[in-house]
Amino acid sequence: GKVDRLDKILANLGYGSRKDIKSLAKQGIIKVDGKIIKDSSFKLDPLISKIEVDDEEVFYRKYIYIMMNKPNGVVSSTDDPISETVVDLIEDKYKVFNPFPVGRLDKDTEGLLILSNDGQLAHRILSPKKHVKKTYYAEIEGIVDEKDIIKFKEGVYIEEEYKTLPAELEILESDTISKINLTIVEGKFHQVKRMFQAVDKKVIYLKRISMGALKLDESLKLGDYRELTENEINLLE
Ligand code: URA
Repeated sequence: GKVDRLDKILANLGYGSRKDIKSLAKQGIIKVDGKIIKDSSFKLDPLISKIEVDDEEVFYRKYIYIMMNKPNGVVSSTDDPISETVVDLIEDKYKVFNPFPVGRLDKDTEGLLILSNDGQLAHRILSPKKHVKKTYYAEIEGIVDEKDIIKFKEGVYIEEEYKTLPAELEILESDTISKINLTIVEGKFHQVKRMFQAVDKKVIYLKRISMGALKLDESLKLGDYRELTENEINLLE
């Protein structure tokens, strides 16, 4: 967990403004681990400590699961010295949970990104042994054809010594700019871009549309996000 100020934690949970919470604390009705805390700047880790307001335990969820439609131009990390991050895009009430992106998308890739503080879920989704399917929609410079379908099924070399696992290529439109869906079960650095490079083609637009059984909610605009539903969380188990 992460240590934060009592007033910030309670404000994020809807207990009023920081000023309101300062006044509640002064009245002596807030307890942390059974002790009355009169100073609302008191620091604690809400994942570890028990908070009570008026003798009612404050419901603090341990885990948060967010689906984001990641926009172009934002990096998939928790902090970055230069660029805006996906975590910068979310509200403080979610930031207190310290979510991190579960898997990375390139800065210029859009689409489905999960943010969570559930490390076990992250491991289940990202472990290379699990072969979780990830589907990408892409636009490609040049004609994509049956031969590429076969090559991707057989695997292509994206490094001297590394051949990709079987991937499923679906051609939606083949033209000077082709439109495709590609499903892969790995997550190598720049994998989709390098797979097309391996067949002398160039990805000019890339968007992730699903991870495992979880699909991007297409009603989310770029940069928008929402919590996963119970059902969606179960899809990731
Ligand atoms: N493959 C890529 O090349 N980039 C991504 O962001 C994801 C998969």
